Amino acid sequence: MASEKQIHVGGVPIGGGAPVAVQTMTKTETANVAATIEQIEKVAEVGADIVRVAVPRDKDAAALPEILARSPIPVIADIHFNHTLALKAIEAGAHCVRLNPGNIGGPEKVAEVVAAAKAKGTPLRIGVNSGSLPKHLLELEFEDPVEALVLAAEEAVALMERLDFTNFKVSMKSTSVPNTIASNRKLSERIPYPLHLGITEAGTKWSGSLKSAVGLGTLLADNIGDTIRISLSTFHAEEEVKVAWEILKALKLRERGPVLIACPTCGRLQFDMDTVVAEVEERLRAYEDPIEVSVLGCAVNGIGEARHADFGITGAKDMGMIYSKGEPLKKVPTEALVDELFKEIDRYYAAGKTVQRDESDAAAAREWLAANEDATAMTPERIAALEAAAAHEDQAAEEVLDSMLTVGAGPTAGGSPVAGRRFSRR
Ligand code: SF4
Repeated sequence: MASEKQIHVGGVPIGGGAPVAVQTMTKTETANVAATIEQIEKVAEVGADIVRVAVPRDKDAAALPEILARSPIPVIADIHFNHTLALKAIEAGAHCVRLNPGNIGGPEKVAEVVAAAKAKGTPLRIGVNSGSLPKHLLELEFEDPVEALVLAAEEAVALMERLDFTNFKVSMKSTSVPNTIASNRKLSERIPYPLHLGITEAGTKWSGSLKSAVGLGTLLADNIGDTIRISLSTFHAEEEVKVAWEILKALKLRERGPVLIACPTCGRLQFDMDTVVAEVEERLRAYEDPIEVSVLGCAVNGIGEARHADFGITGAKDMGMIYSKGEPLKKVPTEALVDELFKEIDRYYAAGKTVQRDESDAAAAREWLAANEDATAMTPERIAALEAAAAHEDQAAEEVLDSMLTVGAGPTAGGSPVAGRRFSRR
């Protein structure tokens, strides 16, 4: 369930129906202001809405005023164990302070921080961690780790409410993807506050991205989660931001920059697709508009499932074709495909987002496509389409059969309505 309440971290709304915010955390020593600002600028450039910085020492807290003054995006101070650092961060004007009430030194110290946050209008991110649950929940943790985590979060929320403080979001951290999903589902039913999602210590860029996509993607698809951070074992925080955006774009929750569609390739591949896709992906980074660009490894399938793409290319051995919205634009030598694709994209923008079509070029491309297309080839795309159609027919037939059985009639003289199907997912 989506959160009802909304808070603001700097100018960024979190929860209450606001777009899911992308966060990351700097990996620099916060006291090293030059390095920290350099990393913040990099993550802001690739789309971080908010950035968190670790504040484990006085000198990190002392660096906050300059970081806050120079950062292009709101900054959250990340505090553990030491409530005086939280007070200093609030005093410095941090846009939000993250703390786990369970490890800050007791309810009195939490109350002191909350009083300061209230006075300054600073939101808090309060969190619980599967690795540091309160003692009275440790037994439950063995029996039901999800319920233990959710109860710990509810207790932290109750403490905030007793202190008459509601300007906060909540995060529950677990290294387990199923527990992260289950606990956030439960908590979202029980509290109205915004939720921050993350899989803690997710891993390397490869495995961590996958874990995060599965865990966070599942929750976001259910409309749970108001801000996300992808935790990856890399110094390059911008990689976390890029992964977060890919997840949000895949779910069509937010748009940012072009969407690249590429076929998986198969034995029909007729040109060096790896290099071409990599080059197209790289060159698309220069564009901000969410255009869809498709790269198909062969023309055997025609334009196939890439029919809706704004622009696309497909190739044979020494020639290829550029198309737009399912219509051929022109054929070009394979080695010029990428350059010509981007010329067409640039012409489209120069003409106010209108596709520029030369009829004689388009006719030659259509001819090339007809000569290279094989309407009978069982390509991966056609097999998938046939399977989808068969599954659809199976379902329709089941519904007919169900309704016949309901009224007491038997199957028709033609035999089973699903007989003879070649493709079935069951
Ligand atoms: S048949 Fe499909 S998957 Fe195979 S190369 Fe052609 S477009 Fe790519």
